Amino acid sequence: MMPGWLRPLLLKFTDRLRLRSLHHALLLSGIAGTGKRVLATALAKTILCKQVSDEGSCGQCQSCLLFEAGNHPDYHQLVSEKQLGVDAVRGGIQKLAGTAQLGNNKVLVIPDADTMTEAASNALLKTLEEPTVNTYLLLLTSRKTALLPTILSRCEKHDIPLPAEQTVIDWLAAQGMTDVTPATIKAYGYAPYTVLDSLQEGAEGLSFTGYQQGIADLMGNKESPRSLAVRWQEHAVQVVKWLQSDAHEKYIRTLHSDDYLASLKCQQASVQLQHPGVNKAVILTGVLSVFSVNPL
Ligand SMILES: [Zn+2]
Repeated sequence: MMPGWLRPLLLKFTDRLRLRSLHHALLLSGIAGTGKRVLATALAKTILCKQVSDEGSCGQCQSCLLFEAGNHPDYHQLVSEKQLGVDAVRGGIQKLAGTAQLGNNKVLVIPDADTMTEAASNALLKTLEEPTVNTYLLLLTSRKTALLPTILSRCEKHDIPLPAEQTVIDWLAAQGMTDVTPATIKAYGYAPYTVLDSLQEGAEGLSFTGYQQGIADLMGNKESPRSLAVRWQEHAVQVVKWLQSDAHEKYIRTLHSDDYLASLKCQQASVQLQHPGVNKAVILTGVLSVFSVNPL
């Protein structure tokens, strides 16, 4: 079942596919955790399906079965770690050449399009300019501005909308995650998959609940800024982000200069934390000390 906030886009694309007016190069952008891959996968399956209905793929034809088995010969992805080089992109383009093995369409998905090197981007340009009739390229990114303008101008761009709070709560409940507070959803920027990841068992990183507990202990003098900072140093960036958001909200409420300075301190710390090799525990101790004196 397609999540509610993604469904309208899938239906719109499906409609245009059936009218043979779907653009051959789509760029889906949005912050991490909004479901770009989920949408792209469903769309790819629909593009390849042999009996598309107005709801999307049929789930029953030969194409859908191959797709579900992870075995579709006309479906390709260019997955990258840090960078996507020119050879990988050329390889992907090569796979799109020729007729589709199932006699229908071909799809190439580039999940992290912003990791393409300049040479890789340039290699892709020609394909974007002159796509063959039954070929579709789906580019995904959480950093749209990192793409070359020439790539951007040749794609039809769609931003994945951020779902409303209640939509996220309902969707998480359907995944078995009940009792998720609005504060948690806000803490993860309303990105449903990021919230889900943070809640799943064995999730790496610091959960928002863990953060709230630690801050409560700090305010109650049960833990010192230093010991908390040492414990949280690997999550310093996230902790400072949450603290800044809380401090900013408090300042909006109080308009007190101490609260403004606390928020400013967080902002400075986020900048410092971007430098490689900095002592995160020291920076975080400095920030947490501000809040131990001036509670949130
Ligand atoms: Zn099908």
